[in-house]
Amino acid sequence: MSNALDGTVVLVTGASSGIGEATARQLARQGASVALVARRKARLEDLARTIESEGGTALVVVSDITTRAAADDAVHRTVAAFGRLDTVVNSAGAMLVGPFADAPDGEWERMVDINLMGVLYLTKAALPHLVRAAEEGPRRIADLVNISSSGGRVARAGNAVYNLTKFGINGFSEALRQELQPKGVRVSVVEPGTVRTELASHTREELRAGVEAQIGAIEVLRPEDIADAISYVVASDRRVAVNEVFVRASAQTW
Ligand code: NDP
Repeated sequence: MSNALDGTVVLVTGASSGIGEATARQLARQGASVALVARRKARLEDLARTIESEGGTALVVVSDITTRAAADDAVHRTVAAFGRLDTVVNSAGAMLVGPFADAPDGEWERMVDINLMGVLYLTKAALPHLVRAAEEGPRRIADLVNISSSGGRVARAGNAVYNLTKFGINGFSEALRQELQPKGVRVSVVEPGTVRTELASHTREELRAGVEAQIGAIEVLRPEDIADAISYVVASDRRVAVNEVFVRASAQTW
């Protein structure tokens, strides 16, 4: 039986945990060869083994994509190994909550570096390959999927810099969608509500209990729920462009 993504190559950032990990696994099951990009090598190797045990193909690409050279290199290694690149999922990100004025040195920079600069560098490096895939690839379409957030639509106290980055990703994605539409590259934004991942664990210790209490109060989403949404975007027929998907837990009021 043929799968929707047979013969295609997908690069997923943030593949060592959470949404990126679930997405890589899901897209591999649909036939794509997947490049797994993040910093934690052992986690990526575990995921690669899992994907291969399910009959898929995976490449471990250990990289901190907050520098331009590293992002270029991650794309280069993917194309060198698989010969092409049809789909990019920019999932790597950080959310460090807390009042703006109290943030310790380096917190804003960490979010801006990965949520914005990492996306820009990786996207720039990938674009020529995505354009080529849209021209010559088996599906005659290519996809760039940016993982934004409900925090890219609704700003809340304690999330100022995270909101800045995710509102920014939404604007960037829409502008880029218009630029790339004539070249056959679809640009989509997926906006998860609260998902049970490692994201909240990076919050400063004194604030972590509050964040965990909010997450623990309802049945939140699972990473696989967002992977399903991403899969819908990427596997849609070339005549269909799913520009934006906003997925919240049923029990989520914020
Ligand atoms: P996780 O913390 O589980 O995953 C974050 C991923 O980003 C990890 O794989 C991490 O890998 C990677 N990463 C972080 N910094 C870098 C870096 N410098 N270079 C390369 N990779 C990096 O969180 P989620 O899966 O939840 O988050 C994925 C995306 O979803 C993020 O953009 C987040 O903002 C968004 N999101 C998440 C929500 C949630 O409730 N969980 C809600 C809305 C949006 P490593 O440490 O190995 O480098």
